Amino acid sequence: MLENTDRTELSSLGEFGLIKHLTQFVEIKNESTIKGIGDDAAVIDFKGKQTIVSTDMLVEGVHFDLAYMPLKHLGFKSVSVNLSDIYAMNAMPKQITISLAISSRFSVEALEELYAGMMMACKKHNVDIVGGDTTSSKSGLVISITAIGEASSDEIVYRNTAKEGDLLCVTGDLGGAYVGLQLLEREKQIFLESPGVQPDLEGNDYILERQLKPEARKDIPGLLKKLEVKPTSMIDISDGLASEILHITTLSNVGCNLYEEKIPIDPSTYNMAREFNLDPTVCALSGGEDYELLFTIDQADFPKIKANPDITIIGHVTHIKEGVNLISKGGTSMPLTAQGWDSLLNKK
Ligand code: ADP
Ligand code: MG
Repeated sequence: MLENTDRTELSSLGEFGLIKHLTQFVEIKNESTIKGIGDDAAVIDFKGKQTIVSTDMLVEGVHFDLAYMPLKHLGFKSVSVNLSDIYAMNAMPKQITISLAISSRFSVEALEELYAGMMMACKKHNVDIVGGDTTSSKSGLVISITAIGEASSDEIVYRNTAKEGDLLCVTGDLGGAYVGLQLLEREKQIFLESPGVQPDLEGNDYILERQLKPEARKDIPGLLKKLEVKPTSMIDISDGLASEILHITTLSNVGCNLYEEKIPIDPSTYNMAREFNLDPTVCALSGGEDYELLFTIDQADFPKIKANPDITIIGHVTHIKEGVNLISKGGTSMPLTAQGWDSLLNKK
């Protein structure tokens, strides 16, 4: 799997030896971590603040494909996507636990790569690894991460509190992770058919990074605080813009108008979508894995965010009776639906 010629079998370390080996460089950075790895449980003290907890599980063959996902990237991504959920509550992540089910197919060196990526993400987000569990798997690799964060009760932002008249905003740009995946899938197929051919990934760094090394928006809770804007609702974009908008509107009992022409799409995403004969807007709406933040703000806060290059206003919240609509570039209004990846792949 890896080019590394040294291969240390997991059996040579045993379960406890492996845990010790993988976690030997884990350091505690946060004051709130009272006890980390090494006891029956971790101890955390947020001193009067509220605790935010979120868990995600990643299963080989379902959520990732090791044929084109290097283990270091997988480690980085598996931590980042969990932290994204904490940022989506307008909170700051402080600790994670990492649970792994591993088959003997993996060497100690391979797991070192996985941990190197995880620790890189933790360093970037100033998060402590405070525990986990390690067990064996008869088939693929399973990674379950729990992220723990803090915020004061008046800072936390939920999904169900958008109100009529609010502006709908999104950070960054969308669709890149999905077209990056299409490119990786295409090169994998070419490789499987003719193993001698090297993958042609040149010049596509941005969309590949969006897929392989997504960045959770650590900067946004702090930016909003600085701008003195508290969103009225917020969610992170893991399944695609359409699906996340429908979560907010359904839970908040409101409608929404989304303007196609306002959806931020990077030129490299746009061009690659075209190369695959895909509609770039559909990639943004249904692709997912962008890990940007989608939020609503009170109209009165418009002047505070309007000049910000990281935030785009893409629509507004309406009365529930108006429904949830996509207003096309041509001006026609159609109900917004959440399409999964399968329907997207079959669409031309
Ligand atoms: P227990 O038998 O109480 O479940 P373990 O032997 O599984 O304890 O774990 C020992 C310590 O190592 C605990 O603090 C646990 O949280 C931590 N740990 C186990 N697996 C991992 C892992 N993959 N990453 C980080 N910490 C881990
Ligand atoms: Mg255990």
